[in-house]
Formats: sequence, structure tokens, C-alpha cells
Amino acid sequence: MSTIRVRFAPSPTGPLHIGGLRTALFNYLFAKKHNGTFILRIEDTDQTRFVEGAESYIKEALDWCNISYDEGPGKNEKFGPYKQSERKHLYKAYAEELITKGHAYYAFDTAEALDTERKRYETEKKTFIYNWHNRKSLTNSLSLSTEETKAKLAANEPYVIRFKSPQDETLIMEDIIRGTISIDTNTLDDKVLFKSDGMPTYHLANIVDDYLMEISHVIRGEEWLPSMALHVLLYRAFKWNAPKFAHLSLILKPVGKGKLSKRDGDKLGFPVFPLDWTDPKSNEVSSGYREAGFYPETVVNFLALLGWNSGTEQEIFNLEELVTAFDLARVNKSGAKFDPEKNKWFQQQYIQQKSNEELTENFSELLRTKGITSTLPLNTIVSLLKERAVFSKDLYELGKFFFEAPTTYDVKASKKAWKESTTELMQELVNVVKIIEDFTTENVTTQIKAWITSKEIGFGKVMMPLRLALVGSLQGPDVYEIAALLGKDETVSRLEKAINKL
Ligand code: GLU
Repeated sequence: MSTIRVRFAPSPTGPLHIGGLRTALFNYLFAKKHNGTFILRIEDTDQTRFVEGAESYIKEALDWCNISYDEGPGKNEKFGPYKQSERKHLYKAYAEELITKGHAYYAFDTAEALDTERKRYETEKKTFIYNWHNRKSLTNSLSLSTEETKAKLAANEPYVIRFKSPQDETLIMEDIIRGTISIDTNTLDDKVLFKSDGMPTYHLANIVDDYLMEISHVIRGEEWLPSMALHVLLYRAFKWNAPKFAHLSLILKPVGKGKLSKRDGDKLGFPVFPLDWTDPKSNEVSSGYREAGFYPETVVNFLALLGWNSGTEQEIFNLEELVTAFDLARVNKSGAKFDPEKNKWFQQQYIQQKSNEELTENFSELLRTKGITSTLPLNTIVSLLKERAVFSKDLYELGKFFFEAPTTYDVKASKKAWKESTTELMQELVNVVKIIEDFTTENVTTQIKAWITSKEIGFGKVMMPLRLALVGSLQGPDVYEIAALLGKDETVSRLEKAINKL
């Protein structure tokens, strides 16, 4: 094992967004590529945002995509526990260490007091930030005397511990994807690290855990970029080596500007979650890729190409190939547009790779649930339909005419295919069909073709109405194959029915 250790650190606040899954995937690919360790850490310190079932949803989604973690809750827990709520006891000492070292302080300002300050700033058309410029005039251990602070703590007054962000410094940071970033520390506020309810905030817990779990690279979404300065400063304050950072660009809406949201999916009819999710409180259902019929390979493939490319023309990658090809240096700085149509294209590519046996199994299962029994060779039917299927459930829609004769005929198709002379022609065709002896695709093809040639008419004049009679529309695989599969009697019966109806 190399020293590369990365983590996916979701907060269980709801279903895992497809963008979160991409973060997990990129961490996984990076780890595997470098023979490193991929860790799952559950960041559940914010009890107010905790959602029942979210953690198991995250695990199930990763599992479905075959993104397996080497360490995590309940697995190889050598740096465990991997759930922050089970690590609560750890964080206070670190917050206090920062106070001792002069990098943090107790703050006793009440919510009302801060609100009043905020409003005062607003009336002066300024934004309120709590930092070096005003901390001395607020209620904290830097403005109060040691005795006053002690007395407040002894009286159990509610407090928070704030980070003392530095004044007048240009902080220079490196991001693997974004390059050099510089920040004026005067724009930073003194972020809360710890609350008197005994819980750390995200920032403190995240840094302490990355340190204790020996994380070498932090690969996470762009929404955490604004926190990077604080994190780098925290590492410095603790005198710890900071991991390397890589902030992945946003996944953007298919149309318009901004971040892909659940609303875009609802509006345009595609999922933005890996699996179906029912909100335990509102019962609102969010649809998932799995239930929509996508294969996990498809999802992994299209996610990998959201913001990353291999530098070649290759688009189809399985997980193993992705591991080999992946390179953080080829991850784009700019946002990646989500393309639901392209995702379907990927799915169509993947269904073509499935064996006919597997698809036939899916197909017969589907027929069973529809109460259809058939003696037709399903594997042949599947091989004919597969090419045009995107999802395995499409096989039924594409091929249901094999099991039920059409009861209606597509209006547009009828107009196009069935002309005045067609009825007579089809009556003749019935007789041609009737005398075909061995009703194989080959015989059906040669004999009908020979008859058309002898009549010196265009092929379309026969093939289109024949197809319409057998299928009900002008869609479907080779019409001779369809006829041969249906058999002579059924072909004749469908032709006669069309003659009567059209
Ligand atoms: N808990 C954070 C989240 O929900 C983790 C951010 C990070 O990776 O540092 O995304």
C-alpha cells in the first residue's frame, strides 16, 4: 500500500446527490490508481441536519456502483470509529489546544447580540464579519479579562470557540485542479470551531479527522473551496502537515446556468440521485438511476466523464479502465454540463455489451410480470430488438407485437403505407405466404422478394404494409424475420386482419 489515503466524507443529510457520487468515484479512482486507500467517513456532527436512512443510502449507492471502500464504518476500522458522532469525545481537546496556543478563543456573544451588530452593519451598508477588526469590541476571551472569562465558563454560560484568523496576510495555497490560489486573510471571519453543546463544527472535526486518519489528499466538491483557507490555517496552527487539496468543479444544469439540482431533474424528467429515495418526513420521492433502469457501469462511466477526460477519443470505460486512465491533472477547472441524453447514449452502449442470455432472462421476467406466456424463441427476439433498446424494460415495448397481434394501426404509418392498391396486393401476398413450405426467414425472404420482383413493383409497396400488418407501426426489426418468427398462420391472420381493417 502506498501512502495515498483519501476519504469520501458525506454528511447524512439526505440522499446522496449524483455530484456527491462523482466525488466518491474520483476519490476511489485516485486511490486505486496509486495503490492507495479509499476511506468512507460519515460526517454527522450536525445533529439538526441528520436524516434517518441517509447513511445506509450512501453505502448502498456506493455498493451498487462497485465503489468499495477499504476503511469505513464497520470495515477495517484501524483509524476508527469512522462516524464523527462516535468520535465526539475527541474534538474538544483540539479546540482547547488552539486556545492555549493563541489561535482560538471563547466567544460568549448571544445570538441576539450578534444580530444587533449585523443589523447595525447593514444600516451602514457593510457586511458584518467577526474577525480582527471588531473582535475586541465583542464579547470573548480576547476582549474580556481572564477572570471574566473564567467566571463565565464557571457559570456555564453558553459559548463557542472561534478560530482567530490572521490579520493582513496574503495566504498562498495550492490546489491540484485550480493551481495557486491567494486569499487576503482580512476577508476571513473567525469561524466557529466548537460549540458548548460539546459538538465540533464541520471545520474542526473535518481537519482533526483528516489528520488522525492520515489523509494525504482531500478531493471534494467546489462548494468547499471557500473553506480551504480556514483549513490550511488550521493545519498551520496545529503545526500539522496539510494534505494536498483538489476541488472538483460543479456539475451544471443541462440548460441554463448554475448547479444541477433536483428541480432540473424533476422538470426535465431525469434522476439526479443514484437510487430512489423517499424522504422519511415528507414522503417525497426522489427518483434514482438504478430504478430508472440504468446499469451501475453506465452511471460510473458518465460520472467519470463529467469534468474529467482521458485525453483520447475513448468514451466507454469500465471501472478498471478508469482506474488505469484516471489522472487528477486532467480534471477540468470549469463546470461540467450534465447531459441526460448523453447518459442514455452511454446506457445504450452498455446494454449492447450485455449477453443475449442475460437480457433474455430480464425479458422473460418482464413477460412473466405482464402475464404473457409464449413459445417463441425469446433469445432470437432479444437479439433482434437489442440494438434499439436503451433499457432492458424497452425490450417489451419494442417487441410486444410478437406476443399480441396489433389491435390498432399507427395512423401516420397507415397513411404512408396503405394506399388504394394495397388491399389487393396484400390479398395476393396472403396467397404467396400460404404456399411457402418451410417457413424459415430465408425462405420467407427469397419467396416474397421473388414475387415482388416478378410484379415489377417497388419493395416498399409490399414491405411497408406487411410491416404495418404484423407490427401495427412501421417500426421493428427485419420484417421477414418477424414473419418467420410469428409463423405462417399468424402472418396470414395478421395480414387478413389488416386487409379488413384498413
Ligand atoms: N461533510 C462534508 C460534505 O458533506 C465533507 C466535505 C469535505 O470533503 O471536506 O460534503
